[in-house]
Amino acid sequence: MNTRTLRSAVFLDRDGVLNEDSGYAYRPDQINWIAGAKEAVRFLNKADYYVFVVTNQTGISRNFYTENDVKDLHRWMNDELAVVGARIDDFRYSPFHPDFDDGRFRSIAHWRKPSPGMIFDLMKKWPIKRNGSFMIGDRCTDIEAAQAANIPGFLFESDNLLKFIQNVISR
Ligand SMILES: [Mg+2]
Repeated sequence: MNTRTLRSAVFLDRDGVLNEDSGYAYRPDQINWIAGAKEAVRFLNKADYYVFVVTNQTGISRNFYTENDVKDLHRWMNDELAVVGARIDDFRYSPFHPDFDDGRFRSIAHWRKPSPGMIFDLMKKWPIKRNGSFMIGDRCTDIEAAQAANIPGFLFESDNLLKFIQNVISR
């Protein structure tokens, strides 16, 4: 499959959108998938969107967990998605928090939502068509990041991600 063609993209916040936001989750046993989340990713794959995760993970700066923990968790999430034939094309996480800044992540401070750095980084690395692309998050900072990247942002306030995304697309 050629995955390098120009396509619209859906940028998903992670905690509170794909999995319930239990606060600083970093292990598979802490992940409860939101209803319709896996099906939503598969729906977007089939509808020819790129699917990306853009997630603030300040637990790294706070030393609750490491970058490798986050990478391992994201690999596990994609393994879980593969079981139902779904796939997240790429992940970005922002470890930075100004109150826990020891210099390690200062160079990517602009990745932290509400800044659009993670979205811009993905737009540099993937052939994304801005037209038709959008972001879904459960906080205002997600919507602000989308607006700063000049794409629509939708606040997920429903209980089923598949239904929510189908509504967004059919608007
Ligand atoms: Mg969230």
